[in-house]
Amino acid sequence: MFDLVIKNATLPDGRTGVDVAVQDERIAAVEPGITAEAGQTIDADGLLLSPPFVDPHFHMDATLSLGLPRMNVSGTLLEGIALWGELRPTLTTEALIDRALRYCDLAVSKGLLAVRSHVDVSDPRLVTVEAMLEVRDRVAPYLDLQLVAFPQDGYYRKTGVEEALSRALDMGVEIVGGIPHFERTMEDGARSVEALCRIAADRGLMVDMHCDETDDPMSRHVETLAAQTVRFGLQGRVAGSHLTSMHSMDNYYVSKLLPLMAEAQMAAIPNPLINMMLQGRHDTYPKRRGLTRIPQMMEMGIPVGLGQDCVMDPWYSMGTGDLLDVAHMAVHATQLGSIEDKRAMFDAVTVNSARIMGLEGYGLDVGCHADMVLLQARDTAEAIRLRPNRLKVIRRGKVIAETPVERSRLSLQGRPEVLNPASYAPRIAV
Ligand SMILES: [Zn+2]
Repeated sequence: MFDLVIKNATLPDGRTGVDVAVQDERIAAVEPGITAEAGQTIDADGLLLSPPFVDPHFHMDATLSLGLPRMNVSGTLLEGIALWGELRPTLTTEALIDRALRYCDLAVSKGLLAVRSHVDVSDPRLVTVEAMLEVRDRVAPYLDLQLVAFPQDGYYRKTGVEEALSRALDMGVEIVGGIPHFERTMEDGARSVEALCRIAADRGLMVDMHCDETDDPMSRHVETLAAQTVRFGLQGRVAGSHLTSMHSMDNYYVSKLLPLMAEAQMAAIPNPLINMMLQGRHDTYPKRRGLTRIPQMMEMGIPVGLGQDCVMDPWYSMGTGDLLDVAHMAVHATQLGSIEDKRAMFDAVTVNSARIMGLEGYGLDVGCHADMVLLQARDTAEAIRLRPNRLKVIRRGKVIAETPVERSRLSLQGRPEVLNPASYAPRIAV
């Protein structure tokens, strides 16, 4: 007898009519026609059952602070950083924890059960770190929160940050961050990449840097990051976040850069929602849409995970906690429109990001944690198009969030009375 059986699901890889059985918080069987009894049975009715969504780039210490102490008028990254600087001295542990917990509630309702959050270490009080460590413990039963020590104001640009970053790692933050394009000079940026990779090598940690989040094609810190990754033997442990300058780089240069990144086994974490909003602010027309080169990186075998970056904070006033919004924007902005492309973008908000974060037991294979999301869509392409209701969100075999099936009632003579958006999915053989 199983604890839970989900009947007749479609899986992200396209398999249909699959039953998934859960025993002792793990997936015990994935096959058609499971007949054994179960404590609970859920009929998926042919809908898509996915592993949980994963956000590999977020700022949990800033989320839901929109409007504090004022709005970002120019809409630029730099005004966002300045605004956060105004807000920072007023931050309290209690308010940070309260906002983060509220955000995690929203995340769970969207089936988002793993988040990598950068945590600002620019204020030597480190209230942000204290608060996020507390949040990490409190949400652990339902959401995996990974923390990056992030020097928002630059590692060398402000005194005391080197020591504060080191202290944050001592306190239990598990990943080394950076922001080389915001250091005072290109040289300081390159020096920061080297110093931060050295720290990661010495401590046996992963690296995830905000890297080249600018429209300046000469912002090439990603090259230094790839080189230092190899030099310090950090292959497979380093991610470059944003990488928007790559949008504007010379094609010849990129043809040299991408193999360097692949050699270093670096991962890329683009954030399409926010970078569509922030980049190109100094352009007239044509206006660059500062998203990094996702299709070219995928062709090169560089793992791509998509992040939200921000939800309702000084940098980005929008955001819903839904990683399908992120995939939806990526499909449009990078013109990844085929069925296969959309499946790849679905992977970029699920399995790719889980791999980049090094999540243990993630997936729908036998032996994995019984963490799953049942969506009101028939397949991955439909999930991205509809961004549908998460009917069931399951953690360790228990339903932790539910949303009813979305249906509209029509009053049109001679037309159907009830409309289900998921029933509009075309049946294309793939
Ligand atoms: Zn960020």
